[in-house]
Amino acid sequence: MSKDVISKADQVMAATYKRTPIVIAKGKGCVLWDTDGRAYTDFVSGVAVCNLGHAHPRVVRALSMQADTLFHVSNLFYTIPQTELASWLVENSFADRVFFCNSGAEANEAAIKLARKHFKEKGEAERYKIITMEKSFHGRTMATLSATGQGKIRKGFDPVLDGFDFVPFNDADALRDKIGPSTCAVLLEPIQGEGGIRCPAPGYFESLRQICDEAGILLILDEIQTGIGRTGKLFAYENFGIEPDIMTLAKALANGLPIGAMLAREHIADAFGPGSHGSTFGGTPIITAASLEVLRTLSEEKIIDNCREMGAYLKDKLLLLKEKYDVIEDVRGIGLLLGMRLKTEGSPFVTACMEKGFLINCIQDNILRFIPPLIVGRDEIDRLVECLDDVMRET
Ligand SMILES: *Cc1c(COP(=O)(O)O)cnc(C)c1O
Repeated sequence: MSKDVISKADQVMAATYKRTPIVIAKGKGCVLWDTDGRAYTDFVSGVAVCNLGHAHPRVVRALSMQADTLFHVSNLFYTIPQTELASWLVENSFADRVFFCNSGAEANEAAIKLARKHFKEKGEAERYKIITMEKSFHGRTMATLSATGQGKIRKGFDPVLDGFDFVPFNDADALRDKIGPSTCAVLLEPIQGEGGIRCPAPGYFESLRQICDEAGILLILDEIQTGIGRTGKLFAYENFGIEPDIMTLAKALANGLPIGAMLAREHIADAFGPGSHGSTFGGTPIITAASLEVLRTLSEEKIIDNCREMGAYLKDKLLLLKEKYDVIEDVRGIGLLLGMRLKTEGSPFVTACMEKGFLINCIQDNILRFIPPLIVGRDEIDRLVECLDDVMRET
């Protein structure tokens, strides 16, 4: 059966993804099953999305109750789930205002538009350029791929949008030098996810905050991958002792249902008045009801504490493997956003783990990424590390 599905999909789907050749039919907690009934322990979480694991009973209940009540009414009206989700986000972050959309790229689009509009409203129309980082990833729409500092993602889509400058990540001096009279903001990920789990040097974010304040420009954090508990804090910026002016969220915000959000401080969000931006589905009741339950579950069941603990536990074990196998160059990341850089190509390791019942993924050709649901336990981690140990011994 799975062979038929795969060959059919390969005929009718746009070939934008290189997929692992299994057909996933079902999930529960940290386990996924394929159509042949084989079980896999999930260390991908649908790319850092299913932070509460699959089919979490609280989310399932909230979603089915809302499905029975109201799916969608558009943003021409008020709804309770949307209002409550925005309130939760405001109460638990630096922000005063929330704009809802449907994906990470859309959240970044909103942030880019808001940054430009903020300076237009201030009478500084010449400020429109945004500085972003080399090796960054901000999405696949025209504006967000223009903001993305990876040639392979922009390739073939020229001309890209005007208004983005690039500097190396972790280089505060390069950033300071790049700021000019037309710069309006800096946009970056707290930890570069797709770029290879690249972490900021100590003090980097304090410097950025100071540089932005001195230059009178905005600090925009793309927390699409790092947010919602992934780094052991609700938002990654809490690890670095600073706050942004604008932040974007998506991925794990509704544990697998499509949602994006752009959060901003009041005096910046002011620039978005009626008619300035919008989204038909943005903050629709069916998704926001589920998202609200995701966030309540995360905090009531102390899932982020588990993330911190299990993240440290897994990282220690990966570091032990590094002592043992020369092929491992380094282990990086915080919380349950961990990477292992190899001296060789990573995809054979991904395949070997899959064959042994573990799903991991590989980024930048040679970095194995470990992003399990934040509910993962010691037992699953022990078994993954055993699997990696076997795979590394055999290759
Ligand atoms: C995944 C991701 C995006 C894009 O999100 P989509 O929902 O795929 O549009 C943007 N920024 C970062 C940091 C991401 O990890």
